[in-house]
Amino acid sequence: MKYPSVVNYIGGAFVSGSGDLALLDVHNPGDGSVLSRVPLSTASEVDAAVRSARAAYPAWSATPIKDRVQVFFRYRQLLDQHIDELAALITEENGKVTSEARAEVLKSIELTEFACSLPQIAAGEVLEVSRGVECRIERFPVGVVAAITPFNFPNMVPNWSIPNAIALGNCLILKPSELVPLSAGRIAQLLQEAGLPDGVLQVVHGGQESVEAICDHPDIDAISFVGSTRIAKVVYRRASGTLKRVLALGGAKNHLIVMPDADVEMTASNVVASMSGCAGQRCMAASVMVAVSATDHIIGRMVEHAAKVVPGVNLGPVISAEARARIRRYIVEAEAAGAKVLVDGRDVTVAGREGGYFIGPTIIDHVTPDMRIAQEEVFGPVLAIVRASNIDQALEIENASPYGNAASVFTESGGVAHRVMERASAGMIGINVGVPVPREPFSFGGWNESKFGVGDITGRGSIEFWTESKKITTKWNREAGVNWMS
Ligand code: NAD
Repeated sequence: MKYPSVVNYIGGAFVSGSGDLALLDVHNPGDGSVLSRVPLSTASEVDAAVRSARAAYPAWSATPIKDRVQVFFRYRQLLDQHIDELAALITEENGKVTSEARAEVLKSIELTEFACSLPQIAAGEVLEVSRGVECRIERFPVGVVAAITPFNFPNMVPNWSIPNAIALGNCLILKPSELVPLSAGRIAQLLQEAGLPDGVLQVVHGGQESVEAICDHPDIDAISFVGSTRIAKVVYRRASGTLKRVLALGGAKNHLIVMPDADVEMTASNVVASMSGCAGQRCMAASVMVAVSATDHIIGRMVEHAAKVVPGVNLGPVISAEARARIRRYIVEAEAAGAKVLVDGRDVTVAGREGGYFIGPTIIDHVTPDMRIAQEEVFGPVLAIVRASNIDQALEIENASPYGNAASVFTESGGVAHRVMERASAGMIGINVGVPVPREPFSFGGWNESKFGVGDITGRGSIEFWTESKKITTKWNREAGVNWMS
């Protein structure tokens, strides 16, 4: 075991829970070795974290926002200073290759920079609404909040919530994925070094039991969740059942529509990068390509591009042996149902890393919309190509998906691009972009079964979620008199 067992971070101290907590092995997906162990916290650890956050809340929420963000200016510098080490940790516990892991930390830096700008953006509003009468809106933190995060971005997804929620005055409990707990501990250390007061952030490790305790705890006011749709529904129902504010982001099945007029090189490289980047374990990854009419020349070029995606070199493993087995089943089933496997990554091994959970890029043509591989989230470096004869049929296929994170179109036609912008049933749209992640200050969030709750998780959209607004009407001018409004 390379690292000692992970421990919770409560009240500014790294603490083991009660001695008899079950421990789960944390694997390095690149070689299958055991990296560390993670405790499966119970309601009692969650309660300790909530009490610590509640104790820190009065002072932190009363600290002016301009002072609160000073912590994040320093944290941003620390992320930058430690980028190599943070990226290496991401690679170890999640598997993604170094360039992808560094990009993840760069995105965490951008998220933190946005939080640093919050005093300018969330400054409130004031207007004289009638003679001598002013209305103003001021923002107040929600209180003690929690963020529950998935395995695929161990550093970035916690940073979707931590900087904004905390800069806006909340005290936060992070419950990271039990598959990748190491980055979360390092985030807590860096925030402590940046001067975050004890108790403002806690990290509670665990799985289902800890999540249920967070959903049920009467002293938690809001929860952001990011993970699969199945668990997003569970968390949304359970936590809103206890009258918490909840934003739960779920899984995805992103459709990329490719038109025959699309630029061959740009399309082929973007589609392959989108389906294979981070081993396809991105909620923004291309999963279905809807090839409209005569697009064989583009598909041919994609196959050539896929040959340059090499497991163990520029393609990392998937998270676990179970995930790899699940992905292989989708491919086998599609092939048996008549689809044509153009690029087959099922049986790859990486020399010297035989224990790693590698799967090569896989492109499957002539998939039909009724196949499971066309409908369900595969979450691996696999692209299903469904054929359509025109843009309306392509949009019908996209619209039929219960998910709605991202949809893209590759075309040189502004009219077609506009039709997709207007009619695709997804929260994030790409025009000639394979991974249309909005950059700060724009917000991240899907539609349909990719998101439950109101608002978005990052950018401007998150300000509403992490704050309560107070509407204040004042009249200091005696001559203003009384009219029908005030
Ligand atoms: P997951 O749903 O298995 O786990 C997410 C979190 O829920 C983890 O912290 C986990 O401990 C907890 N959890 C797991 N099972 C639970 C249960 N039965 N009850 C309560 N809590 C439980 O997701 P994952 O496999 O870690 O992550 C991959 C998924 O996340 C994919 O579906 C992906 O699309 C999605 N994702 C979505 C977005 C988005 O923005 N929409 C972003 C990243 C990942």
